[in-house]
Amino acid sequence: MEQARRLEATDAAGGLEIARHILNYIDGRFEKGSAGATFANIDPASGLETGRVHEATRADVDRAVGAARRALTGPWGKMTTAERVRLIAAVADEIERRAEDFLAAEVADTGKPRHVASHIDIPRGASNFRMFADVVSTLPTETFSTPTPDGAGALNYSVRKPKGVVAVVCPWNFPLLLMTWKVGPALACGNTVVVKPSEETPRTAALLGEVMDAVGMPAGVYNVVHGFGPDAAGEFLTSHPGVDAITFTGETGTGEAIMKQAAVGVRDISFELGGKNPAVIFADADLDKAVEGVSRAAFLNTGQVCLGTERIYVERSIFEPFVARLAAAAQALRPGDVNDPQYVGPLISEEHRQKVLGYYERALAEGATLITGGGIPQVDPAASGGFWIEPTIWTGLPHDAAVMREEIFGPCCGVIPFDSEDEAVALANDTSYGLCATIWTQNLSRAHRVAAAMSVGICWVNCWFLRDLRTAFGGAGQSGIGREGGQHSLEFYTELENICVKV
Ligand code: NAD
Repeated sequence: MEQARRLEATDAAGGLEIARHILNYIDGRFEKGSAGATFANIDPASGLETGRVHEATRADVDRAVGAARRALTGPWGKMTTAERVRLIAAVADEIERRAEDFLAAEVADTGKPRHVASHIDIPRGASNFRMFADVVSTLPTETFSTPTPDGAGALNYSVRKPKGVVAVVCPWNFPLLLMTWKVGPALACGNTVVVKPSEETPRTAALLGEVMDAVGMPAGVYNVVHGFGPDAAGEFLTSHPGVDAITFTGETGTGEAIMKQAAVGVRDISFELGGKNPAVIFADADLDKAVEGVSRAAFLNTGQVCLGTERIYVERSIFEPFVARLAAAAQALRPGDVNDPQYVGPLISEEHRQKVLGYYERALAEGATLITGGGIPQVDPAASGGFWIEPTIWTGLPHDAAVMREEIFGPCCGVIPFDSEDEAVALANDTSYGLCATIWTQNLSRAHRVAAAMSVGICWVNCWFLRDLRTAFGGAGQSGIGREGGQHSLEFYTELENICVKV
């Protein structure tokens, strides 16, 4: 364990202990990048540097992929499913034991509210391992008895095998949650992984290396390489011929770039991409619950949620009261203190804030009426270097406005009235994305009818972000390729072989 704690020095940030040096984890060892390059790790709530991230070179990525390949035929590859599952369950236990360390790391990297990280990010990090350990231990396989001309028959049965070395490329909005959502099933199925966490949020991926050491995970099964995307660690990894499959969560444009890299060598991909998700609120909805649910969907994690709502369609008879109550919910959010339950965090970076502010300006140019927000809030001078932004609501936008069509990934939404169910469905589906939708109504028939009419991967009725990890998760249209979750993950993380035995 001591040998595992190779994050060189620690620092206190807001009373939380976090590492100063964030290292790569290759073949069971924490390492600097071989070229010695580092880049700054920034706390979005203060704008201050909290550590140095050691950047992996192409040669480092190559070694990580090599280590992952060797591990496939080492002790890891020889384990029975029961042995592997025990080790994966131990990873979940160790994440829970070190929950405070993970919480400190995640809050330092993202500036997100402590209650969000402690209720969503970190527990999901553990359950992503535990759930997939359960899935592979109870896995059925199919068997067919096949007639043959000689009457003797044949038996067809299937076996699932690991796909090999899986590249895991992740974004910054729920770093541990989204990474383990892929690493959990990949390892449960017997693969090895090389993870490239977002350059903005490298801490929890590195910390997970300590967890792997602590539970005795064989070297090379879990590797982490830090760095940027194009022409850097991300691309070195996804274009590496030693990688058998690539699972990626991030922007649709990045997905397109990675798909081109994956085409070389015909490597398998699983993509969870962007969204421009609608909420549809009918006049018969429970208004209190709809306002509460939609404001969470629009503003949780400062709107930096792939499942977040940026388009809201409200039946005309309740349009005014709904907008007024949503605005009151937005105004009740306060920047500045990670421990405040009404706290709304900063955006991830100044670059992202400039992008979101660009959309704030564009909305007005496109004819929006600004209901609330629209700029940078006042915060305590001590926090003024953070990347704060106001939760923002617009009405009066035409449906073809860029702010109604493009993913902004900030705490903002446009609200548009509708007059009929058909119109609401048509507006909601008028997008190139298709990740999720939410519907608010107390009419049971309408709920089923409208939910089935939505062109999305996930539709929530009278709730949002209520997840059961056994269900299929993924996007339609430009929101993704493939489904992960429960047994659906096995389609990507295993190779299914059919064996036909003539009797
Ligand atoms: P991003 O696409 O900019 O980056 C994601 C990761 O890809 C990072 O690790 C980055 O370094 C890497 N990368 C970038 N270019 C690359 C390249 N050419 N080759 C290889 N790797 C490359 O996304 P982001 O800004 O970190 O995250 C926000 C986006 O993620 C939003 O679009 C959001 O909707 C999406 N997202 C989707 C889901 C989902 O489940 N569908 C979940 C969370 C976030």
